[in-house]
Amino acid sequence: MSDCIFCKIINGDIPSSKVYEDENVLAFLDISQVTKGHTLVIPKVHKENVYELTDEVAANVFKAVPKVANAIKAAYDPIGLNVLQNNGEAAGQSVFHFHIHLIPRYGNGDGFG
Ligand code: 5GP
Ligand code: ZN
Repeated sequence: MSDCIFCKIINGDIPSSKVYEDENVLAFLDISQVTKGHTLVIPKVHKENVYELTDEVAANVFKAVPKVANAIKAAYDPIGLNVLQNNGEAAGQSVFHFHIHLIPRYGNGDGFG
């Protein structure tokens, strides 16, 4: 989709700090990380939210989550990790290209939650 920020990141029109990539999925650091290493995992096809995911897209994007989680663990050594996903403005969604948040946790005072 031409006016979608995350499609522009996939196309390389907007730069991002890549954490993981395969044929179907991209993971990159959130532009305003709530904790160090806050990463977003997205399908390379434009799907607005969880309701639009096909079995294939869901399998591809969720299959990537453990790989991204392990990359974050290796890079940042957190003591916990939140996996979050918002659908609809009322749920806190602000970018309407499906994405999963991986938020590393470092204990009390890490600034999140
Ligand atoms: P949501 O609120 O939709 O669940 O999460 C959207 C996330 O995308 C936010 O955490 C926001 O900081 C991040 N974001 C918005 N625009 C950009 C961008 O241009 N680049 C990156 N890397 N992250 C973005
Ligand atoms: Zn998109």
